[in-house]
Amino acid sequence: MAVVSRCSRAATAATTANATTAPTFAYLIRSLSPFSSSSSTFDPQNDLNNRNKPAVLGTLKRESKGRNVQWVFLGCPGVGKGTYASRLSNLLGVPHISTGDLVRDELASSGPLSSQLKEIVTQGKLVSDEIIIDLLSKRLEAGEAKGESGFILDGFPRTVRQAEILEGVTDIDLVINLKLREEALLAKCLGRRICSECGGNYNVACIDIKAENGRPGMYMAPLPPPPQCASKLITRPDDTEEVVKQRLRIYQAMTRPVEDFYRSRGKLLEFDLPGGIPESWPKLLCALNLEDREDKQFAAA
Ligand code: ADP
Repeated sequence: MAVVSRCSRAATAATTANATTAPTFAYLIRSLSPFSSSSSTFDPQNDLNNRNKPAVLGTLKRESKGRNVQWVFLGCPGVGKGTYASRLSNLLGVPHISTGDLVRDELASSGPLSSQLKEIVTQGKLVSDEIIIDLLSKRLEAGEAKGESGFILDGFPRTVRQAEILEGVTDIDLVINLKLREEALLAKCLGRRICSECGGNYNVACIDIKAENGRPGMYMAPLPPPPQCASKLITRPDDTEEVVKQRLRIYQAMTRPVEDFYRSRGKLLEFDLPGGIPESWPKLLCALNLEDREDKQFAAA
């Protein structure tokens, strides 16, 4: 995907990585390995004219100068963190790092942690900060060896302690807090399907919430797999109703405070998803001062 920044230097920095700027990863890895112990709101429904551009984007321009973006996605299970983080990663040319994926890879590897992780994940609980930071550090180290710089983190940090550790070792430019109506979250998790061969993410749920008591309706079309994936679809073992409800409870208890952590540092961009990808993606780009040329050409074709 081609990227054009209208006015955010963040995007420019992403496309013109400065080879002389040392990536912060090395420091992150070194610091994490031994293991010691005013928000901005962009509501696309009500702010279509961009009158209220989030102030955090001004900070972002300064902080990301000379290196690739270092962004974090927050949001409840099922909100679509992976979908939008992956799209932005393609657009900006920075790695999308999902700690959920790292955990699932470790589970699939049948390594020493595998059985311990399986029990935790299938109960919808959080993996310990120590294990998750170890997995993340290894991923960053491997990326650094390949010349990666910048990142879009998805699923990390998930506790205030993780946020404090991250804050202590590197600068996070922006935290995008995705929000979706609660009625849709469970349905989206239960409808999620993954291609066991290519890893593609799809969704069979058709979410059609009728307007009620002055609240607008919301429609999210299913995201069907392409024919080559249709016979290879699997569901995540933690996407059962009981486990999703537990994950939502844990999000409230452990991860909501992370929103406050970044809100108080002026780094939080609240983004209310107005619907599915066709409605939400252009509005998210608008909130981030980004433009996706290919998407526009595709829409115009
Ligand atoms: P979700 O769809 O609930 O956001 P993820 O795919 O991000 O799920 O994560 C799946 C599971 O991996 C979590 O339920 C948790 O057990 C574990 N996990 C992922 N990231 C973290 C983290 N930062 N801290 C602790 N556990 C994590």
